[in-house]
Amino acid sequence: MVSADVFSLALCALSALCTEKVSAQNYVTVSATNVYQNTGRKWQDWRKNVATFEAVSAIVKETYRKLWNDWYLACAPVGALLQVDLSDECSRYSHSRNLIVIAIAEANLDDHDILDLSAWPIWKVELVHEMLHEWQAKTPCIVTRDAEALCTKYAPPACGDGHGPEFFQAIVEKASYFSMTPEQLAAKI
Ligand SMILES: [Zn+2]
Repeated sequence: MVSADVFSLALCALSALCTEKVSAQNYVTVSATNVYQNTGRKWQDWRKNVATFEAVSAIVKETYRKLWNDWYLACAPVGALLQVDLSDECSRYSHSRNLIVIAIAEANLDDHDILDLSAWPIWKVELVHEMLHEWQAKTPCIVTRDAEALCTKYAPPACGDGHGPEFFQAIVEKASYFSMTPEQLAAKI
């Protein structure tokens, strides 16, 4: 976490430069090998999970880079530091730290679609959700009636801050990117 803070500070310092595409420097991967050391399991039982996690982690990073570069145009804010963890914790976005954490639970490594880029595996649902929070925080937001209606219908009742009408306005603005209606994207994420 210390190195993440250092990166985060460095990225904030760059924000005055206006344009900074997401690059390899934006990524941190928490090693599955380190997680293994706390499991007490045999390495041969764990090895397949390490390989799958590393493949998932690479896809998460590549997808973030593609979405971010598609979503933000020439005069863009600085992309968040992306951290991919193997853990049961919640994925999250921190605006003050300019940090997205995508948490992959070990149980999800066996999902049939976990490496399927054409589907919506769990990490993509969470990555898009956190990127919508990033969008909501980094772009000017004028809430429309459509967003207010979606918020009334889909806002999670007990899921932390940040799921007000502004979050649903981000959904309204980005749904067409996924060839969805705002309603379909709100239901998905
Ligand atoms: Zn959220």
